[in-house]
Amino acid sequence: MGKLEIVNRKPVIDSHSKICTTCIYDENVPAIKFDDDGVCNYCKMIEDLKTQYKTATPEGEKDFFEIVEQIKKHGNGKKYDCVVGVSGGTDSSYMIIKAVEWGLRPLAVHYDNTWNTAIATENIRKILGKLNIDLYTHVVDNKEADDIFKSFFLANVPEIDGPTDIALAETLYRAASKFGVKYILEGHSFIAEGVSPLSSAYVDGAYIKNIHKMFGKIKMKTFPNMNFASFMKWILVKRIKKIRPLWYIPYSKKDAQAFLEKEYDWKYYGGHHLENRMTAFNHSVYFPQKFGIDQRNNSLSASVRAGLLSQKEAINEYNSNPLVEDDLIGYFKKRLNLTDQKYADIMNGDRKTYRDYPTYKKRFEKLRPLFFILAKANLVPMSFYIKYTSKSEM
Ligand SMILES: [Zn+2]
Repeated sequence: MGKLEIVNRKPVIDSHSKICTTCIYDENVPAIKFDDDGVCNYCKMIEDLKTQYKTATPEGEKDFFEIVEQIKKHGNGKKYDCVVGVSGGTDSSYMIIKAVEWGLRPLAVHYDNTWNTAIATENIRKILGKLNIDLYTHVVDNKEADDIFKSFFLANVPEIDGPTDIALAETLYRAASKFGVKYILEGHSFIAEGVSPLSSAYVDGAYIKNIHKMFGKIKMKTFPNMNFASFMKWILVKRIKKIRPLWYIPYSKKDAQAFLEKEYDWKYYGGHHLENRMTAFNHSVYFPQKFGIDQRNNSLSASVRAGLLSQKEAINEYNSNPLVEDDLIGYFKKRLNLTDQKYADIMNGDRKTYRDYPTYKKRFEKLRPLFFILAKANLVPMSFYIKYTSKSEM
């Protein structure tokens, strides 16, 4: 029996840390490299994406509105012409409102992992109600969801919230396929959120299946997992494209939030992606305390790059402990049926990665040239190509 006290590995940046000159990534970020001017490879990756997508320039907007025209053309005569995932958070709420403004006819899609906060659910209801948009929801069985989350916790890997990402992706494809829709719009912005290094963000269908097989107790029945064959079906046979409008057009998260609050009575949930309790636990407790990862450095670095925060301001915020809602840890233990001792043992225990378990990673690496073509055709996000098919940690 170990002790109940949790060792907090939350990283800080101090005067000894080597940090990038244009963001706040330091030498602890996986696969980081600095050039002669002290600029990191992640800042360069962002610059490359900006050049490639002509982000927030008239040319970028022109490219994007050509895509909008294609979406309309393909959707002619159909009930919907695109699907948009909604979580109740800033980016996806803004995305669906913009889609309507652009003259599109979106179907909203939500994957309910049963850990939503009431704020998130209310936000979705308010926006879709006002815009009169249909909602397609997949609700996973809550016992099964918890069994999968618990498997990731017991496996000692960082991606406890990864199953939600895969399930959302699969739900979006299923909804698109069901209604003959060829386009999925995603509210991701590399300008506002930056890019997260792979080692804490890897997830695929095989990883989920294998972790759950090893550590789970009940059968996977309602969880919408995506295996390799279904992934290939969605992109190669159904040819459903993923478009990220915020990679082309100007976007300010702050302005978007102000707009949502004023026009839609939308409520801020107090932090990045904290509209869901599992996401909140993951970002505010699990990542920092167990793995020494504080993912706020992604959005804080993005704010420094965009000139919204000084490097000093960003470091100060980064060095403070993330806010943890009063009952969050108790709620986590209770739902996953963990004793205080088991919780402490895991939090203080091994730190493993996706490389310790079977995944599709090697297969993705072998198919790198194919995925480059698919990314160019918008059939997979360019960030999937950059991170998932590279042999390095990035
Ligand atoms: Zn940097």
